[in-house]
Amino acid sequence: MAPPIDLRSDTVTRPCAAMRNAMASAEVGDDVYGEDPTARRLEETVAALLGKEAALFVSSGTMGNQIALLCQTRRGDEIVVGEGAHCAYYESGAAAAWSGVQPVFAGSGGLFTAADLEAAIKPPEYWHPRTSLCAVENTHNRAGGRVFPQADVIAIAAVARARGLGLHLDGARLWNAAAATGASPAELAAPFDTVSVCFSKGLGAPIGSALCGSRDLVRDAHRFRKMLGGGMRQVGVLAAAALHALDHNVARVAEDHANARALAEAIGAAPEARVAPVETNIVNVDVPGVPAALVVAAAARRGVRIGASGPERVRLVTHLDVPTAAIGPAAAAICEALREAASVAGGAR
Ligand SMILES: *Cc1c(COP(=O)(O)O)cnc(C)c1O
Repeated sequence: MAPPIDLRSDTVTRPCAAMRNAMASAEVGDDVYGEDPTARRLEETVAALLGKEAALFVSSGTMGNQIALLCQTRRGDEIVVGEGAHCAYYESGAAAAWSGVQPVFAGSGGLFTAADLEAAIKPPEYWHPRTSLCAVENTHNRAGGRVFPQADVIAIAAVARARGLGLHLDGARLWNAAAATGASPAELAAPFDTVSVCFSKGLGAPIGSALCGSRDLVRDAHRFRKMLGGGMRQVGVLAAAALHALDHNVARVAEDHANARALAEAIGAAPEARVAPVETNIVNVDVPGVPAALVVAAAARRGVRIGASGPERVRLVTHLDVPTAAIGPAAAAICEALREAASVAGGAR
């Protein structure tokens, strides 16, 4: 049987031979002493790409987001985020544990407006939490890879400035937002104080993210990274993979978007499926009346791995290791799986 087509996430990619070669031949040094030339080169490259003064290589997107919060909040503060934001929903309560902040959701569905932010900011009375930071996620994961409209971002930034809030961009998939809109990563990052980006999602590196911001902020971030156990030694072997990813895999995320649209179109023809509009590389499929777990299992039996993103919702994510030629067969298998799962669920009712 052919190896399974894995559409669970864009994190499942494996480093290709050329990336492994780049890792094997990387120049390295002890990065806790600031002596790893490849890590330095990555940090300078990413800072320039995002139009920020400085960048710090960190082990994961979670670490990047959490260090951004540690740098810009105090214990007891409130942070405003979109519904289902990764930094509040998928990071094991880290914001509460490390920064001691509580998140409040603005708007609904993940994206929000400047008016939603205004409404979420607490009045300055001392008996309220201090609202100190707003975080935007672009693209938004739980919203189904939706692009945060830049006009909204700019309006949100104006409110944040006027009200004295810091502004963080969770740009784990900023490359996808850039590909979808034609804007550069630097343009999308411009309104923000801090930006985290991931190399291990659509770009296909095995490990790593970066947190970018002002030189002063990144100096603080350095201390917090060490505190969290993220000071790494000959880290150039990982930075080399990220540099390779930036050189070779940024432009091609547009292919993932085309593949996701093709997948959505084919699956949209199935009567059991309600396919959400696709903006980037994530396809959310609602399956009313059918438990997602049944669909996931039926697809797995047909050699396609997908994820459940709700009780009656499945998620498909296209990436570097899903070639365009696999999309047709994957869609056919998923349509069959939907039919089987619906008939099993119908029989159980
Ligand atoms: C994946 C992801 C992250 C980071 O995840 P890690 O697994 O910690 O690297 C952060 N934000 C968003 C929106 C993500 O999708």
